[in-house]
Amino acid sequence: MITCAADNCPSTQDTRIDGNLITLFPFPEDDQRKNQWLRNCDLLLSDDEPLYLCELHFEESYFTESKDLKPNAIPTIFDKKEGL
Ligand SMILES: [Zn+2]
Repeated sequence: MITCAADNCPSTQDTRIDGNLITLFPFPEDDQRKNQWLRNCDLLLSDDEPLYLCELHFEESYFTESKDLKPNAIPTIFDKKEGL
């Protein structure tokens, strides 16, 4: 089972949005970009298992027409639950 690594995000590989399976993206191989993703997610680097983020954390402009992530994509959309 692949799950989204973002805090408070319930997405898994079986999650559907409007009837379509959600897309989960593996963290980048490139260390610099991977660290940026981790920072944005408030996550610590884990060597144990591969991490994934679901499409809900990326702005529309980071997707290509075929719904792939652009090479410069970084996750910026998180439910921080501010004020709770
Ligand atoms: Zn997610």
